[in-house]
Amino acid sequence: MEIRIREKCADCLGKGTVPHPIWNLFYREHPGQVTTEDVFCWFKAHGYRYLPWPSEKMRCQSCGGAGVIEEWVSVKELLEMVAAQQ
Ligand SMILES: [Zn+2]
Repeated sequence: MEIRIREKCADCLGKGTVPHPIWNLFYREHPGQVTTEDVFCWFKAHGYRYLPWPSEKMRCQSCGGAGVIEEWVSVKELLEMVAAQQ
C-alpha cells in the first residue's frame, strides 16, 4: 500500500520562489544600502551589458513553484519519516 503525502517544500519554505543565485551574489557583495546605480553597474560588469538582468526571485526548481511537494510513499517509508520527526 502507498499513501500520497504533501509536504511544504523545504527549499523555498512553501513560497514557490527562491532568490536568483546572481542576486545572492550581488547582495553578498553589497551588504548595506544599494542604489539603482550600484545594481546597474554591477550587472553590467557581470555580463548583463546588453541583456536585461534576471528578476530577484525565480521559480523554485524543487516544487515547480507550487510550494509543496507531493509524492507517493509506502507505509514503511511513512512510518520512518514520522519516527525521524520525533
Ligand atoms: Zn519549492
